[in-house]
Amino acid sequence: MPTYTNNYIPVNKYTRPGLKLNGVKKLVVHYTANPGAGADNHRRYFSNAQVYASAHIFVDKTEAICIIPLNEVAYHANDIQQRDSAGNPYRGVAALKPNANFLSIGVEMCLEKDGSFHSDTVERTEDVFVELCNKFGLDPIIDIVRHYDITHKNCPAPWVSNGQKFADFKNRVKAKMSGKSVSKASPTKPTTPSPSSSSAASGSLKSKVNGLRFYSKPSWEDKDVVGTVNKGIGFPTIVEKVKVGSAYQYKVKNSKGATYYITASDKYVDVTGSVKTSSPSPKTTSTSSSSSSIKSVGKIKIVGVSSAAIVMDKPDRNSSKNIGTVKLGSTILISGSVKGKNNSKGYWEVIYRGKRGYISGQFGSKI
Ligand SMILES: [Zn+2]
Repeated sequence: MPTYTNNYIPVNKYTRPGLKLNGVKKLVVHYTANPGAGADNHRRYFSNAQVYASAHIFVDKTEAICIIPLNEVAYHANDIQQRDSAGNPYRGVAALKPNANFLSIGVEMCLEKDGSFHSDTVERTEDVFVELCNKFGLDPIIDIVRHYDITHKNCPAPWVSNGQKFADFKNRVKAKMSGKSVSKASPTKPTTPSPSSSSAASGSLKSKVNGLRFYSKPSWEDKDVVGTVNKGIGFPTIVEKVKVGSAYQYKVKNSKGATYYITASDKYVDVTGSVKTSSPSPKTTSTSSSSSSIKSVGKIKIVGVSSAAIVMDKPDRNSSKNIGTVKLGSTILISGSVKGKNNSKGYWEVIYRGKRGYISGQFGSKI
C-alpha cells in the first residue's frame, strides 16, 4: 500500500517549475518550521505561494501528501547559507553537486503546535522513506540526508541539534526495509543535566510522548531547546505555569535543581500535584513576542494568500531565508516598511517572534 497520496499542485514558476529531475541520488529530510500546520495546509499554501520554495512530500501525524511528481524538480535544498573563502556556497553532499534540487527528493515533516514532531509523524515519515528507498534503490543509512548536510541550513532543527535522533531514524527505516519489527523511537539520552524519572514530589511532570523538547528559557524557539524527554520521563518539580507567546509552559526543575521550561499542554504532559500559574504577561498576538525590543509602529493583517504568508530574513524574496509563516487573516506587529529587492510592492518589516522579518507588501494590509 502506498504510504502517501498524490495531490499535485499546478505547474508554476515558483513552487513547481515542471523541470525534470536528472536522477534521484539522495532523499532529503526537512521540517516545515511551521508549528501546527499539517500536510494539507502546506499543499494549499504551495499551490499558489509566490516563493521559490517547495518539497515533494509533506508528512503529518495523519497523512502524507505528495504535491510534486517524483520525477520533477522541487526547490528545497539549493539555498545558500554559508560561503567558503573563495565565495563558493557550502555544499556538504558531493553526490548532489552542483544543484541538489535536480538530484534529490525532498520530504517535509510537519510540526505540532508546540514545535515538536508527533511520534505518528515520525513513524509515517519512516514508512515514506522505506517506500522511496525501495522505489529508487537507495540505502537509508547513506542515502537519506538532512537539508543541513547539504547547505548547513538548520533543518530539520530537532535532528541538527540532536544528530543521534537522525541516526536512529535511519536505522529504523533500514530495519523496516529488512522486514524486522521496529520498536518505536528508541530512547535518546537528553543532552543536558538529566531530568529525573522520579514522580514522588508533588507538582511533578511526566512526558506522555517520546522526544518531547524542553527549553533553557520560556521560549518555543529551536535555538533554546536543550534536550528531550521520552514517554514516562519527566521532572520532579514544577515551579509554576507561565505564558509563553500564545501558549503555556511549565517552569520545571530536574533532580539537580536546574531550571527548564516545557510545554504545559495536557496532550503531551501528565501532571501530578498542584501548580501555581504566574500572572500572564500582557496579551500579544500569537506571532509577536512581548519580549521584543523592536519598536512597533502598527499592525498588518495577512491578506491575498491561500493559507499563510512567508516571513523572510531579508527584504528580497529571491534570496532570503524563510524564518516562518503568518496565517491568512491573522495580524502581526510591524516596525516599518522597506522597498527591498525583487518586489514592486516592497516589504513590510514585521516583528516575528521578537525578531525582525519581512513579508511581501501585497500580503499585508495595514490596520
Ligand atoms: Zn529544509
